[in-house]
Amino acid sequence: MTYRLYYTDAYTLTFDARVRSLDATGTRVVLDRTAFYPTSGGQPFDTGTLNGARVVDVIDDDEHGDIVHVLADAWPGTIGDAVTGTVDEARRRDHREQHTAQHLLSAIAADRFGWETVSVHFGADRSLIEFAVADITPEQCASLEQHADMVARAPRAVTVGFEDAASALGLRKPPTREGEIRIVTIDGVDRSACGGTHVRSTAELLPIVLRGTERLRGRVRIGFLAGQRAMARAALDAQLLAAISQQLTCAPAEVPDAIVRLTVRNGELENERRRLRTQLASVEARALWETAHIGSDGTRTVRVAQHALPLEEVKPLVAALVTLGGVRVCATSESPLGVLLAVSSDIPLDCGRALRDALVAVGGRGGGNAAQAQGTVPTVDALVDVVARLGFAT
Ligand SMILES: [Zn+2]
Repeated sequence: MTYRLYYTDAYTLTFDARVRSLDATGTRVVLDRTAFYPTSGGQPFDTGTLNGARVVDVIDDDEHGDIVHVLADAWPGTIGDAVTGTVDEARRRDHREQHTAQHLLSAIAADRFGWETVSVHFGADRSLIEFAVADITPEQCASLEQHADMVARAPRAVTVGFEDAASALGLRKPPTREGEIRIVTIDGVDRSACGGTHVRSTAELLPIVLRGTERLRGRVRIGFLAGQRAMARAALDAQLLAAISQQLTCAPAEVPDAIVRLTVRNGELENERRRLRTQLASVEARALWETAHIGSDGTRTVRVAQHALPLEEVKPLVAALVTLGGVRVCATSESPLGVLLAVSSDIPLDCGRALRDALVAVGGRGGGNAAQAQGTVPTVDALVDVVARLGFAT
């Protein structure tokens, strides 16, 4: 069993120990004692070094009570080696702050609103608490945030003790283990059975900032940030907002209105673009139709090969062409690879069938009706082949 230094002291990050066991690969090291926290209870593992060797994962071997340090490279020594371990300070501090803020928020949410904490998640972007409640209003969120701030500001001591599960009183949740349990107490606010790393004083949690809610499985998850991570995120948000307001040439407070105006303007321009495209298509269609090759049966053949444009963009032109009558049209695109076949209503050709037959021969897919059909092909060569099979010049 590994002696867990972090159980009684979450601030000592350098420690001396001895190697107690190594696995066959030499990358999984068990020590007699450690300050490294293993992934457990929603809190991620610590990183750091053992005699300079990088620790990339820490696993709780519950069965043997051991903590397994996973190294990036095999341990160069042997069992019994003296080890100096160093836990990465910034990551540990961040975990202490987010985890203890979660205790505080869960306790206040239970006291003030009766929301039971179902699960917690400490993520790279933000931490989440899932509450067994169907809905949380923005006002309730603001109230929770204000109370957490007020309570943390007092400030209150956070202490660790060990008690028997059967006689421990006033716990926020009933203990899931029997025998001796570790209890984390926020003075006057919360008593929870927990194995994680926590701060000494709630002053270290400030600021505590809620970052939105999301509904999931009939419950609500609240996102939050605490301590130095909240400060760093606030600085980043300010930078982002400054960059956005500079781009929009307006004050930060005017950004939402400026975006609404831009969206409306963009919609107007898109409508105008479509109207002009249709108008242009009818002019282009007339020119193409008048100069088209006329076959022995009197049918005109028009090949539209604007390969940089998706087929959607040339459809107005094709539509304008077929209204002129006596015409077969084949349009192709290379981005994405596609082919479109259309005929005017006075031409006795079933486009759907003709295109399907040509596509099957080259491994393409598609279909349509008698007047117009569309398909995709796997390669440029297949596109050339399909066009030839449809009787058009490539
Ligand atoms: Zn905890």
